[in-house]
Amino acid sequence: MTEATSTLAERLQAVRLRMSAALARAGRAPDAARLICVSKLHPPEAIREAYAAGERHFGENYAQELRDKSEALADLVGLRWHAIGPLQTNKAKYVARSAHFFHALDRLEVAQELSRRRTGEPLECCLEVNIAQESSKRGVGVGEVEALLSQVRSLPQLRVVGLMCLPPFAESPEASRPYFRQLAALARELGLSELSMGTTTDFEVALEEGATLVRVGTAIFGERG
Ligand SMILES: *Cc1c(COP(=O)(O)O)cnc(C)c1O
Repeated sequence: MTEATSTLAERLQAVRLRMSAALARAGRAPDAARLICVSKLHPPEAIREAYAAGERHFGENYAQELRDKSEALADLVGLRWHAIGPLQTNKAKYVARSAHFFHALDRLEVAQELSRRRTGEPLECCLEVNIAQESSKRGVGVGEVEALLSQVRSLPQLRVVGLMCLPPFAESPEASRPYFRQLAALARELGLSELSMGTTTDFEVALEEGATLVRVGTAIFGERG
């Protein structure tokens, strides 16, 4: 089904079916993973449409866009915002105020600022791991995850619940599998239960390897402008 001939609700349903099938293949429960609809660079109306189709978890990359959309959509009861992009210290306040979950924690300074700015419930976080050890990539190095985890654990307003990764871009989803598998092993070692991994290109492989949160944008909302 191509974008031009399908509605958002149809594309959403197709993603849900592919998720169910991947979970079933892996012998996992149908509710073992949650879909995060990545709405970055799409208008608030597209989020309303996905919300009307039953979705509640939305992912945004840019802190100010997250702030603006959370204000524009404040009337949508039960909507949960996931900040999934890299974050600078000076923008941490927007994520601390608007997000329910932060997927891309990779520096202590950002963690400290988030904890300082967060009121109410602690912010749930995943540490983003540079799992392929790419020099150009953000994310904490595999060898430094444990140290960062113990530092972040002393911060009162953050709660690290899992790990996240974004493997190197590849044509084949199978290319991501070894990285997903490594991230799952690392999370197990550290006693962390959430695994944020898999996007439009490789979410089924991620689910087969234990993802609990998949971040899917294009397959739902279409290409970003
Ligand atoms: C944009 C983005 C996604 C979604 O990517 P799609 O290919 O549109 O599914 C997921 N995770 C992160 C960190 C992103 O920046």
